[in-house]
Amino acid sequence: MKHSLNREELIEQLKELAAQKLPTYLANHMGAMCYEPSMIDSFSTICQHCHRPLTYQAFHSDEEMFNSIIKEIKDLGYDASLEVICGSCALEAKEEAEFFDLPFTSEDDICEENAYHLFCFKTKSDKDYHQAITDMESLYDYQAVLAFLKGESYFEDSYDRYHSIMDEQDTIKRMTGIGIKENDSNEE
Ligand SMILES: [Zn+2]
Repeated sequence: MKHSLNREELIEQLKELAAQKLPTYLANHMGAMCYEPSMIDSFSTICQHCHRPLTYQAFHSDEEMFNSIIKEIKDLGYDASLEVICGSCALEAKEEAEFFDLPFTSEDDICEENAYHLFCFKTKSDKDYHQAITDMESLYDYQAVLAFLKGESYFEDSYDRYHSIMDEQDTIKRMTGIGIKENDSNEE
């Protein structure tokens, strides 16, 4: 197994990847025009923090993707975990989370009945985990993190569209705490 990188080395890797433009043939790639979404399933689980029963809706294929992305991140030699938590625990975890960003909502809109993902990430040399709370559908954020850790300058989303790491630096920063401008320490 390739030795995983430490935080400083990851910042260097990000600099390198973020300097690479998406190849023109991929930038012009339109994606599947008649994308047919897979079936939405209802999942039952328990909040991994307070053990309250939770149900949520998600694409079945996405559920498998989340698990395989976390496994790949670990296989690359990083510490990562993904938990399903309820809205109340999401509000509590927010105190510690360095990244909290739910698309289309403000933090006040967290619904206590809903389910959220808590993503934790650190390199082998980091002491503490960087925590991020995302909604249940944001597979895309995780795909960006995986591509970056693999040293790939772009990735394909589940809609058959390509994205460059150059354009996803903010996503990577929110998810892993790793950004080129490490001196924005007054963000949170
Ligand atoms: Zn909970």
